[in-house]
Amino acid sequence: MQGIGEPTVKVGRVPRAFVGLGANLGDREATLRRALTLLAERDDVEVVGVSAVRETDPVGVVDQPRFLNAAAALETALPARELLDVLLTVERSLGRVREGERYGPRLIDLDLLLYERDVIDEPGLTVPHPRLHERRFALEPLLDLDSELTVPGRGRVDELLAGLDSGA
Ligand code: ADP
Ligand code: MG
Repeated sequence: MQGIGEPTVKVGRVPRAFVGLGANLGDREATLRRALTLLAERDDVEVVGVSAVRETDPVGVVDQPRFLNAAAALETALPARELLDVLLTVERSLGRVREGERYGPRLIDLDLLLYERDVIDEPGLTVPHPRLHERRFALEPLLDLDSELTVPGRGRVDELLAGLDSGA
């Protein structure tokens, strides 16, 4: 016999998202760690994987310090928009001030690279991240996390990286 008031057990997977992390000012490694800790401390986000950390040359505005880049795999029931808000909140709490030039130096940059296999194009939210497919510093950490990963509309991460090798 079944009682009443039993907890509902939700079956099914929790959505998976991939976040890119970058820092090129201050104690870069400590800042990346702190960002991951702030995400992991949240009840609504689980950090299920962290890539290697790589030192990379700046892209775009090249006259600035080198970056440390990494990526994390998250499981979260938050929709993509709310997850981006969480990322921007973590950036702010780590002292990032959004002023000065875009692509310029920053204490911390958290980008929502992938959310499930979703394609989202809304004001203030584009997923996959619009420059992911052409950025080695974002693709390589993703490959660490999942060698089978695909960027919706662009192709497999390993093939995108191979294409960058043969390109300019
Ligand atoms: P970038 O990361 O491209 O160097 P910023 O970090 O300054 O640039 O981001 C600028 C804005 O891009 C953010 O305020 C955010 O609203 C918007 N944005 C849109 N899609 C995304 C995404 N997938 N990940 C992160 N930011 C995004
Ligand atoms: Mg960003």
